[in-house]
Amino acid sequence: MVGKRVLIPICTFVLTILSVLSAAQDSASGKESINAGDLECHVSFLASPLMNGRANGAPELDIALNYLVSQAGLNGLKPAGDSGYFQNYSVVRSKNALRWPYYTLKSTGNNSRENVGEEIALRNVIAWIEGCDPVLKSEYVVFSCHADHIGRINGEIHPGADDNASGCAALLEIAQAFQTSPEKPLRSVVFLWLTGEEIGLLGSQAYVKNPPFPLDRTVADLNIDMIGRVKGIADTTLDTPVTGPYGVFVISDDQSRELMQIAENADEGSIIDFDYSLSGRTHHLNLFARSDQYNFVMNDIPSLFFTTGLHSDYHTSNDVTEKIDFKKMEQITKCIFDIGLEIANKKQELQVDNPYSKR
Ligand SMILES: [Zn+2]
Repeated sequence: MVGKRVLIPICTFVLTILSVLSAAQDSASGKESINAGDLECHVSFLASPLMNGRANGAPELDIALNYLVSQAGLNGLKPAGDSGYFQNYSVVRSKNALRWPYYTLKSTGNNSRENVGEEIALRNVIAWIEGCDPVLKSEYVVFSCHADHIGRINGEIHPGADDNASGCAALLEIAQAFQTSPEKPLRSVVFLWLTGEEIGLLGSQAYVKNPPFPLDRTVADLNIDMIGRVKGIADTTLDTPVTGPYGVFVISDDQSRELMQIAENADEGSIIDFDYSLSGRTHHLNLFARSDQYNFVMNDIPSLFFTTGLHSDYHTSNDVTEKIDFKKMEQITKCIFDIGLEIANKKQELQVDNPYSKR
């Protein structure tokens, strides 16, 4: 047993170290403020059993969204919804509700025949940081992710730690990095925590239908959906590819050569390796059209989709916080920040040389 007189100095020493560490963490600014510990805190909350799997229409999704709003507020982000940070929209159950998408956006016209199914009121969270250039600040770089998941199925909570508490946490950290950088970006940056993704990419559809920032001034979308896994934690097959300890899939359809070049620069400057092998509409998994970036792509906004891949825990009760590799997530999140920062600070707008709508 350690004597009392020894114990007190040891305690004082430990407390001093802890306070120095936490002060160091608090004072980190810009990209260095992105860290594994913060990411783990956010994911632990959003994927806790108390969130009940964050299903669309469930009160727990609203609690998760309120958490994101409070974090956005603490970081000093500006709100851009129709009600503070919230953008309200409604969805109705599809006529053929056995096939995905199970819901469609509620039509705002008087065409009530389209709106016959069960209705759910949903909301996205939208926050932004104004750019510092008097002209370029009216152009926007979007970071997107979805906050909803699939709730409880057959009595089992599906926590959705990777899908997509990981993306929500990354967006919070990227926003904090921009906000604490000594210099603000030239263009404005927008952060979207979307809902309705799991039932038909509906939050992003609602956003592009009613955008608070003009789409023709939106220069890129960087979408994050499931960036927390490393190969070997769950089974991996051809249909569930997962990247290794330093890998991330970057999924695109070559809308802009310039954007691909910016991604390659970030890849070269980082320990993380980008794997483009799941790109394009012809890939058999079709991941390119399976997350929110697709609604931006359809509007000719150059997009990149970041994911560590589909594992055998995907959409099961085993998608839990304990299986996330937060050190890897930190490195991936820093890469995505770098890409967004380079786009936000480009003198010229990103060239779109292969628009999706013209194919
Ligand atoms: Zn997802």
